[in-house]
Amino acid sequence: MAEDVADPGVGAGSATHSGLVVVGGGPAGVAAALMAASVGTRVTLIEAAERVGGKPWHIDALENVPGGWRTGPALAGAMAQDIARLTATGRCMAVRGRAVRVTAPHGAERARVTLDDGRAYTGDAVVVATGVESLEATDVAWVDVPDGMTVPQLWRTGPRLTHALVLGADRPLGTWLRAHPEADARLEVLYPPADAYKTAELAGDPRVQLHEVREVRVVPVSGGGGAPGHEVRAHLADGTTGTFAPHQLLVNAGSRPAAPEGSLHRDAHGYCPPDAQPPGLHTAGDLRSPRHQRITTAHGSGAAAALTAHYPPPSGP
Ligand SMILES: Cc1cc2nc3c(=O)[nH]c(=O)nc-3n(C[C@H](O)[C@H](O)[C@H](O)COP(=O)(O)OP(=O)(O)OC[C@H]3O[C@@H](n4cnc5c(N)ncnc54)[C@H](O)[C@@H]3O)c2cc1C
Repeated sequence: MAEDVADPGVGAGSATHSGLVVVGGGPAGVAAALMAASVGTRVTLIEAAERVGGKPWHIDALENVPGGWRTGPALAGAMAQDIARLTATGRCMAVRGRAVRVTAPHGAERARVTLDDGRAYTGDAVVVATGVESLEATDVAWVDVPDGMTVPQLWRTGPRLTHALVLGADRPLGTWLRAHPEADARLEVLYPPADAYKTAELAGDPRVQLHEVREVRVVPVSGGGGAPGHEVRAHLADGTTGTFAPHQLLVNAGSRPAAPEGSLHRDAHGYCPPDAQPPGLHTAGDLRSPRHQRITTAHGSGAAAALTAHYPPPSGP
């Protein structure tokens, strides 16, 4: 339990009443909680991780964030402090827990969030801001990995890369290169045709070698100088094949929405657009769409969701 997320001490299966329940304590959820409290709404903020702050805790170099923020942990720490201050005023209760189900208000029933340990929290409305989760190598159709093998995520690694093979050309690669300009690394990036548009910002960096591929197979091998016990065999887009024996194997293959089950409306890709939700449920941040995944838009959409929940929609003619 982190200092910023208090356990309310509520037993399994019990329900706590609150004006607005916010699920997810990243930029979107924090903004929703702050905005709701500013208009006098009592807030319950539910966060699965040890600390409030979300993805920014793991982003070494930030771009596009007004206010002069250059590193994610500095911003995440500031958000955690904002919630700690709000909690101290009594206008917000911060709960450590993982939401597994969110249901819309129905008849006399209020909106409800159920956690994986059975606790439940109800409110007049719920803002869901659970963001996206990284795809594992086993989730990706163009990659075949041995059963039981876990490939580490590029975006969670520090500067200590030497010769790494990266599966996928998603945005965190550009972030890693910007964050570690002095790192003397050699990164061979295997990416599917669908990722080709993401490679423009990588192509000028001499540390990166790009290989468009059709499919990739990670094969156990004995001995050799590559990643312990594995080599990577690729069918390249130009019709040739290639074998790689990197020191490190990392995955950087994108993400998918991380919405709890229940009443949220999802599009064909699992995202939860705000304007498609049932009354009483609101979505914010990365969960809305793959096209709006920035900290500033997460903040804005979280604040907007809290205000939408607070002010009733205009009545019809
Ligand atoms: C490597 C990398 C670099 C980036 N660089 C930038 C950048 O330079 N500039 C920029 O603007 N954006 C950047 N982004 C994007 C930015 O991080 C996101 O757009 C932003 O964090 C989205 O905020 P969010 O609140 O929607 O989601 P998140 O930050 O993902 O927060 C979601 C929160 O919900 C919690 N949660 C998830 N599921 C549950 C659950 N079931 N129950 C309870 N809690 C749950 C999570 O623990 C997390 O704290 C980057 C992202 C990555 C991965």
